[in-house]
Amino acid sequence: MNLFDVYPVNPIHIVRAKGSTLWDADGNEYLDLYGGHAVISIGHTHPHYVQKITEQLNNIGFYSNSIEIPLQKQLAQQLGEMSGKEDYALFLCNSGAEANENALKLASFHTGRKKVIAFSKSFHGRTSLAVAATDNPSISAPVNKTDNVVFLPFNDEEALSQAFASYGEEVAAVIIEGIQGVGGIREASIPFLQLIRSLCDQYGAVFIADSVQCGYGRTGNFYSHDYAGVQADIYSMAKGMGNGFPIGGIAIAPKFKASYGLLGTTFGGNHLACAAAVAVLDVMKSEKLLENAKTVGNYLLEELKKFDKIQEVRGRGLMIGIELPAELASVKKDLLFKNRIFTGEAKPNVIRILPALNITKEIADRFLDALDERLKA
Ligand code: PMP
Repeated sequence: MNLFDVYPVNPIHIVRAKGSTLWDADGNEYLDLYGGHAVISIGHTHPHYVQKITEQLNNIGFYSNSIEIPLQKQLAQQLGEMSGKEDYALFLCNSGAEANENALKLASFHTGRKKVIAFSKSFHGRTSLAVAATDNPSISAPVNKTDNVVFLPFNDEEALSQAFASYGEEVAAVIIEGIQGVGGIREASIPFLQLIRSLCDQYGAVFIADSVQCGYGRTGNFYSHDYAGVQADIYSMAKGMGNGFPIGGIAIAPKFKASYGLLGTTFGGNHLACAAAVAVLDVMKSEKLLENAKTVGNYLLEELKKFDKIQEVRGRGLMIGIELPAELASVKKDLLFKNRIFTGEAKPNVIRILPALNITKEIADRFLDALDERLKA
């Protein structure tokens, strides 16, 4: 059997990793500024993480949600504490798409409505409603296309007000990334997020903050939307939550009523995934990773702004977009194949920096030096 060929794969065989360093089968060293797409939050093979998962696997790896799993409650408690949302409730699933899928479904249950407002260049996942709310028609199958999702221009206050004025009573949810990731590292403006909050309040719609990529401490705030001083009704999360172990979830405001069977999944909240997620939060707290994301992130942002060949630098904390002029679009590939540095990209020519939250200034400098070399080459 062959693999179903859906990923453009680089011919690199990574066999070992530690922190933000990777090694291939020939012993070549690579630097990881991509974190496996914002997934590696506490660095690869962190000893506390390895120990917690291994211990858990030796005790019990999986049962089902038909028994109490104390680790789920521990995870919810630690998450509430670190995010400052102790009164929210946690539902656990397995990925970012699933988190958004459940957030949208819950919003529709809660309001009894069908319409969803999403924004240009959004990415919310590849499952049915998540992909319907994603602004990329080429990844939606005919069955995913629906009139229930309305796309509005990102950061356009007037368009948003007009939409609510004409069909506000039908809107179940507004879903927005605090910083668009796949869309090219574009930050939602503070007045825009505040307007979403006030219109959702006025019309009884649900504010969903997709924090899958921009959340979990990456920007220096736990949820990137926090900088606007607004509270969302539901925060979706995944990626950095498990540092590579598949886990996702939604944090749900107290006004939502739970009932049996409303949401559910076989694997969500399993022992191993919870052990991984608890270990991540332990390390985020003990190593003060939100502060580090802010410090090293600000340093990178400041230094990147000094490069005159870069068109624009965008982002916050350790979620950074470097927009290059079209003629320098090969820099990303050259960083990988000439300097052995992994970065991400957003079409057509934005380099995305999404490293582990514990990268050091020294690693940041190694990246800046390599980028300097590439831009001069
Ligand atoms: N939301 C956002 C903002 C994302 O960036 C992604 C993944 N790139 C997803 C949702 C989907 O997450 P997953 O791939 O885990 O389904």
